[in-house]
Amino acid sequence: MNLKKYSLKEFEEQINFYYYEASKNNLDELYNEAEILKNKYYGKDIYLRALIEFTTYCKNECYYCGLNCKNDKAIRYRLSNKNILDSCKKSYNLGYKTFVLQGGEDSYYKDEIITDLVYSIKTEMPDSAVTLSIGEKAKSSYKMYFDAGADRFLLRHETADEKHYQKLHAANLSHKNRMKCLYNLKDIGYQTGAGFMVDSPYQTIETLAKDMMFLSDLQPEMVGIGPFIPHMDTRFKNYYIPDVKHTLILLAMIRKALPKVLLPATTALATIDKKSRSEAFKAGANVLMPNASPICHRKDYALYDGKENSNLEAVENTGKLIEYINNLGSHVKLSRGDHVDFR
Ligand code: SAH
Repeated sequence: MNLKKYSLKEFEEQINFYYYEASKNNLDELYNEAEILKNKYYGKDIYLRALIEFTTYCKNECYYCGLNCKNDKAIRYRLSNKNILDSCKKSYNLGYKTFVLQGGEDSYYKDEIITDLVYSIKTEMPDSAVTLSIGEKAKSSYKMYFDAGADRFLLRHETADEKHYQKLHAANLSHKNRMKCLYNLKDIGYQTGAGFMVDSPYQTIETLAKDMMFLSDLQPEMVGIGPFIPHMDTRFKNYYIPDVKHTLILLAMIRKALPKVLLPATTALATIDKKSRSEAFKAGANVLMPNASPICHRKDYALYDGKENSNLEAVENTGKLIEYINNLGSHVKLSRGDHVDFR
């Protein structure tokens, strides 16, 4: 298929247009186009991933995140490799074939520890896929994890606009480095995921258009987007534009720009509006990541207020989740759910 490459200006015009159409509930055409593209590459399949949030320690100061190092009210925990492996096995026994290991940037987990962990998961469950989401590392570290068997890596770019990035992060965090990490991950051969929050503080149509341009250039295999939700112990506690339509529009636009992308309906979206999960599937999403962390720790992985971690967002309720998805006319596929070009 010959994909049209849009310019920055065209992306800006599109976002303006759809944001305006949203006020008139006039988005069916956009959603239909997105759904047709999703069906072309993935049919009606929805892939499930077990999400294990294994550490709340973080050395970084991302101003929007409840786990930032300056938040002394955050409850910190970290799981041992054995505990993480057990959580993977529990999900595996429920049928899951992809584990997403996410955490703060916690220097306790030296490269050897992550490498051992990946290796043991892949040895015990060779037909599974491991996704890491552990932040910025040296290229050599990413390569070590990859050689140990890691398949995918999620690293949201957060915003493609450098000035915007600096308004959201402490001065020691570098936009250039985050972008470089994403190109390194692609270069190593990971199925790579980028992404951003929708309606984050200081976001504009222009910065969003840059996000779309960046995604078109990077060509990631996965894109994670969800609404920004404030956390009460951060400087952005009073900043809130809860409009799920913005996320749905951008999901559909991303599906159109990257038709083969793996695109989750994120927990943040379900947190602000449960109905939006099904709407996300209509707008081109095809992945869900229910929580598989040890139940006693779930409430402490508090990136934002009110984070949903039970009901349909929890692996214990996989049966209900499957029923829910089937009732929407989609179909749960408990396979590894690789990107079509990685099969
Ligand atoms: N340390 C890892 C994982 C970060 S948490 C890394 O650096 O990639 C995963 C994602 O949660 C972040 O990339 C961010 O986009 C999102 N997030 C953090 N705080 C949030 C908030 N207040 N509202 C919505 N999403 C948030």
